[in-house]
Amino acid sequence: MAFLFNSDAERAKIFAAAFARELPALPFVTNPAEIDPAQVKYLITWTAPADIDRYRNLEILFSIGAGVDQFSLAALPQKVKLVRMVEDGITRMMQEYVTLGVLALHRDLTGYLQQQRAGKWASRPIHQAPDRQVGVLGLGNLGLAVLERLRPFGFPLRGWSRSPRQLDGVACYHGEEQLPAFLAGTDILVCLLPLTAETRGILNADLFRMLPQGAGLVHAGRGQQLDTEALIEALDSGHLSGAVLDVTDPEPLPSDHPLWHHPGIILTPHIASVTQPETAAHTVIANIRRHEAGLDPVGLVDRGRGY
Ligand code: NAP
Repeated sequence: MAFLFNSDAERAKIFAAAFARELPALPFVTNPAEIDPAQVKYLITWTAPADIDRYRNLEILFSIGAGVDQFSLAALPQKVKLVRMVEDGITRMMQEYVTLGVLALHRDLTGYLQQQRAGKWASRPIHQAPDRQVGVLGLGNLGLAVLERLRPFGFPLRGWSRSPRQLDGVACYHGEEQLPAFLAGTDILVCLLPLTAETRGILNADLFRMLPQGAGLVHAGRGQQLDTEALIEALDSGHLSGAVLDVTDPEPLPSDHPLWHHPGIILTPHIASVTQPETAAHTVIANIRRHEAGLDPVGLVDRGRGY
C-alpha cells in the first residue's frame, strides 16, 4: 500500500524526506501513473481527482489545506475518511494575520492610510483595548488559537460556535439564537468559520446591522461567506468603520472589482495562512500512525456537518 502526494513539487520534496525518515515502509508516490491505483491507501491533494473511484482501497483523503469546502462531499466514496489540515504552521500564520487585522482596525489604519494619501497630518479618535470587544465567529482550531494570541492586548474577548463552549476569559455564545447577542457586543468581528450551507452568505446586511455603530470586520474564512455589496453599503453609510479581507468571491478578484479601491478596506489575496510543508508532513505522518492504531485522525471531517 502507498501514499500518493498530489501537490506542488517543492512541498513534495519536503514531504518525501519526512516520509522516508519516519515511515520508510510506506511507498511515497507523486506520479499517479507510476502506481497501481489499488495500492493507494492515502492521498493528499487540494481537490479530489475526477477518477477518485479508481483508488478503491483508499482509506484517507487528506486535504492539503485547512478547509474542505473545495471537495464535493457527496461525490467522495463514503468509506473514505476526509481529513482537513490541522498543523502548527497554518495556526501560527492565522494568529499573525488576525492580530494584524484586529490591530489595524483598532488603531484605525484605514483612516490613517487615507490621510497619508491626502498628505494630512492629524490624529483621529483613539480607543483603548479594554473598551473594544473582539468577537470571533468560529471557535475551532483557528478561532481558539487567535483568541489566545489576542488575549495579552487586553481586548475583552467573545466567541460564537455551533455547539456550546466554556472558555476561560471568553464570553461564549452558540447557535443562531445567540448570534444577535454576540454581535451586539462585538466591536471588531473576526470570521473564521468553515464554508458550509449554513455559513454561506452569513456576513450579510442583517448581520452587519446587528453590530454596533463603528464596528470593524476581519474576514479570513471563505469568500462566499461575505455579501460584498452589503459590506460596501455598511462601510459607505458609516455603520462599519473598516474591513480587513483575506478572502473574496471569486478568487482571484477581477481587476475592476470595487473591493480593490474602497478606502475602508484592506485587502490581501488569500494569504492569511498557508500550509507549511515541514509541520504539515509531521501532522500527516502522525495521523497515519493514529489511523493504523485504530484512532481517528486529527481533523477528521464530519460529513454531516460539512466541516
Ligand atoms: P474548525 O476547527 O473546523 O472550526 C470551525 C468552527 O466553526 C467551530 O467552532 C464550529 O463550531 C464553528 N461553526 C461551524 N459551522 C457553524 C455554524 N453554522 N454556526 C456556528 N458556528 C459554526 O475549523 P478551523 O481549522 O478553525 O478553520 C476555520 C476556517 O478557516 C476553515 O474552514 C477555512 O475556511 C478558514 N481558513 C482560511 C485560511 C486563509 O488563509 N484565509 C486558512 C486556513 C483556514 P463547533 O465548535 O460547535 O463545531
